[in-house]
Amino acid sequence: MTANISLLSIGNELLDGRTTDTNATFLGALLEQHGYSLKYCLKAADDMTDIQDALDYLTSHSDFIVVSGGLGPTSDDLTRDAIAAFCDCPLKLSEEDLLRIKKYYTERGRDFQEANKKQAYFPNGSKIISNHGGTASGFHLSHKRSIILSLPGVPREFRTMLQGDVLPILSSHFPLEQKKQKISCRLFDMPESKAAGIVTGCKLPESVQVGYRAHFPELEISLSTQDKNINLEELYSKISTQLGQEYIYTKNSSYHLPEVVHQLLLESGKTLALAESCTGGGISSVLTDYSGSSKYLRGGAVTYSNESKTTLLGVKEETLRTHGAVSHETVLEMASGARKALQADLALSVSGIAGPEGGSEEKPVGTFFIGLATANDCISRHFLFPAARDMVRTKAIYNALDLIRRYLLGLSLSGRAKD
Ligand code: AMP
Ligand code: MG
Repeated sequence: MTANISLLSIGNELLDGRTTDTNATFLGALLEQHGYSLKYCLKAADDMTDIQDALDYLTSHSDFIVVSGGLGPTSDDLTRDAIAAFCDCPLKLSEEDLLRIKKYYTERGRDFQEANKKQAYFPNGSKIISNHGGTASGFHLSHKRSIILSLPGVPREFRTMLQGDVLPILSSHFPLEQKKQKISCRLFDMPESKAAGIVTGCKLPESVQVGYRAHFPELEISLSTQDKNINLEELYSKISTQLGQEYIYTKNSSYHLPEVVHQLLLESGKTLALAESCTGGGISSVLTDYSGSSKYLRGGAVTYSNESKTTLLGVKEETLRTHGAVSHETVLEMASGARKALQADLALSVSGIAGPEGGSEEKPVGTFFIGLATANDCISRHFLFPAARDMVRTKAIYNALDLIRRYLLGLSLSGRAKD
């Protein structure tokens, strides 16, 4: 039987924007990993009525309800009282848990606080879920057709208790009959609407769910099914061929494009130099986020002015005068200049108009050029991506990285080769 699992996160700070509900994200991912899924996530204030109203809704729509937060010692921690009132199970002191809390303090050389006594009270008939990393233990109890589990909101404690105690309780009540099959891939340079049109055209069986997640400027597509008669790999192979394998930079991983390019550069044994204008060092920054980048990254220059393009990279003044700083000709000279200056195998260059000022009819905001110099060739590509400044810059960084990825994998570069 599939369980309808829900989460109720409690705390004023979750509603007024002070704290992000990371417990919801963690629970959702953990359930997904174990073949379950989360049906509803509700947030409620530290308020007796609101908590009970939320429980009323969730117990009539879910079989298994995880409650996070509000188990602390202060006056605004009302979860245990609200659950006790909702389930009509008065709170009862657990001498055993009280001893555990006292021991928790002694072990840390601190005095037991009377306020913490409140944390040793549990709804009558509930089972305690011991907390080995904090003062608030959790508990679980049955109410009508649902199981309610209450855990402390502190993310570290919530996570430990979820993995150690809640998952076994869940699987003992709701064993999974068939593990979900799932395949995901991440694409770059493929608009979501285009990808969706291609996937729809593949006419997948109804029992296969397709998910799209745009994470600018990347797109993730996932296929999943509970149907064991479906050969998901076969369907994925058909879809990925239709989408174009070259756009898929990773399969079944949570890597972003920069990490994939970092790995490819490491594996290639080639060195890289960078010449950045509108990206202001952004390519260097994303690559140096990964340890080991010193093995391939020779260095880079942020050449924001015409003068620096000339003095540091050897871009000809005439090129800048005739074609402008944002042109095929300039990025070609920037790339070959950087490659030579830093004695690298490969060099990437970027020059563009990130806006909001600086655009013209001929070169509107969002125009950028990327150059790639290799031992045998120097190519450049022209892009137009009219958007806010930060998005233009991000897109330029990712397009530059994608050009390297394509080069290292022997895929089409579709650039304009220099004569
Ligand atoms: P509580 O258990 O409600 O006393 O919360 C203890 C701490 O955990 C507070 O600092 C909260 O901001 C934090 N916290 C509570 N609930 C969540 C949640 N759902 N996600 C992330 N942090 C939380
Ligand atoms: Mg709280």
